[in-house]
Amino acid sequence: MIAEIIAVGSEMLTPFRQDTNSLYLTDGLNDLGVQVAFKSIVGDNFAHLTSAASIAIARADIVIFSGGLGPTEDDLTREAAAAALNLELHSNPAILTDLYKRFAARQMVMPPNNAKQADVLDGATILNNPNGSAPGQLLDTTILDAAGNHIRKIVILLPGPPRELKPLFDAEVKPRLAAALPPRHLAKRLLRMALIPESHVDSRTAPIYTQYPDVETTILAGGGEIQLHFLCAKPTLAEAQQRVDELTEKIEAEMEDSIFSSHGESLEEVVLLNLGLRDLTLATAESCTGGLLAQRLTAIPGSSRYFLGGAVVYSDALKTIFADVPPELVATKGPVSHEVARALAEGIRTRTGASLGISITCIAGPGPGAPGPDAEKPIGLVYVALANAQTTQVKELHLRGDREMIRLWASQHALELIRH
Ligand code: ATP
Ligand code: MG
Repeated sequence: MIAEIIAVGSEMLTPFRQDTNSLYLTDGLNDLGVQVAFKSIVGDNFAHLTSAASIAIARADIVIFSGGLGPTEDDLTREAAAAALNLELHSNPAILTDLYKRFAARQMVMPPNNAKQADVLDGATILNNPNGSAPGQLLDTTILDAAGNHIRKIVILLPGPPRELKPLFDAEVKPRLAAALPPRHLAKRLLRMALIPESHVDSRTAPIYTQYPDVETTILAGGGEIQLHFLCAKPTLAEAQQRVDELTEKIEAEMEDSIFSSHGESLEEVVLLNLGLRDLTLATAESCTGGLLAQRLTAIPGSSRYFLGGAVVYSDALKTIFADVPPELVATKGPVSHEVARALAEGIRTRTGASLGISITCIAGPGPGAPGPDAEKPIGLVYVALANAQTTQVKELHLRGDREMIRLWASQHALELIRH
């Protein structure tokens, strides 16, 4: 079973409004084991809408329209769906009475235009909309294909305002679709990896996941990480779960330590969990990231048990004041150096009494490093250091991208260093 969503509204063809309804509908359809194969956004134009509706009805089993059920001239979804299905619209007396009552309750006379909100596709079930005047419609029908076969199609019309569409979809559409479709149960899994290019992940995992055609695999890259999403629909949950678990185990064996979480936890959460398991505390000394690492850690509830705090040591002077870095070291090696990163990590650890001290110092760009030893160092040069009571590890990195990316990736490297 595949679905198509048509978001109706010319405003979503401008730079100012986005179609978000389809994301909500996709999530709900996936819950029912239905995959969305096509989405389109169509303006309030009868010819365009009828064309999009005809294409969707021909290629998808379930077609959901969002929007265009209002009372105005440009609300044309009912008319376009009827034209594409070659069906008539008939005014439904119960809806019409209800519309009159709504206006009467507000001491208003209903404008004639509003009457079209009572028009219903022949054979459609009316879906009660407690949050607006236009009810939804669900038509479970068959059409004839070119070979003369009867093909089942489910066509659903929903109002555009999200506060109407969402409750209507949940209360009226989902239970009806669940009853109409063969029983499907869904298993999902999210594997997350950092510091590894998407192409590497794909070339190593594709030979595995392509052996599981019944598991839908999506690779997403962004925010300094790669995510592998698995989705499997089966008649029973146990079957779906088993397929997803089996695939996850094989991917884990292939990618080994690159995977920081197999159940969707963020890198920050995993790092804090690891600190907890090892009964360790952490303090940070950040230069170019300006507290980004501390911000990410403190965003996790309960982090105060393992994260003591940190210092933003942006200037040379503050590196000395808060992390006891010898001023001559900064002057001779430069603030972005192996030696200063080490001194920062060790200094903040000693100062705070934490079990671990981590530091980040980098040339984030777009301008060059400060005058002095750093003046000639390249943009993207990063040092991350992690100190414990026995040793200090220092990593030198050469990152690419703009200032924001370099800062984000530097914080990713710091978290990965702590995790290992
Ligand atoms: P109305 O009776 O309000 O006219 P309608 O069913 O005709 O209802 P639209 O006119 O298409 O709905 O949309 C009403 C408002 O709902 C839009 O201005 C927009 O803000 C919001 N909206 C419509 N479609 C979407 C969508 N796909 N995603 C997010 N918001 C939407
Ligand atoms: Mg409208």
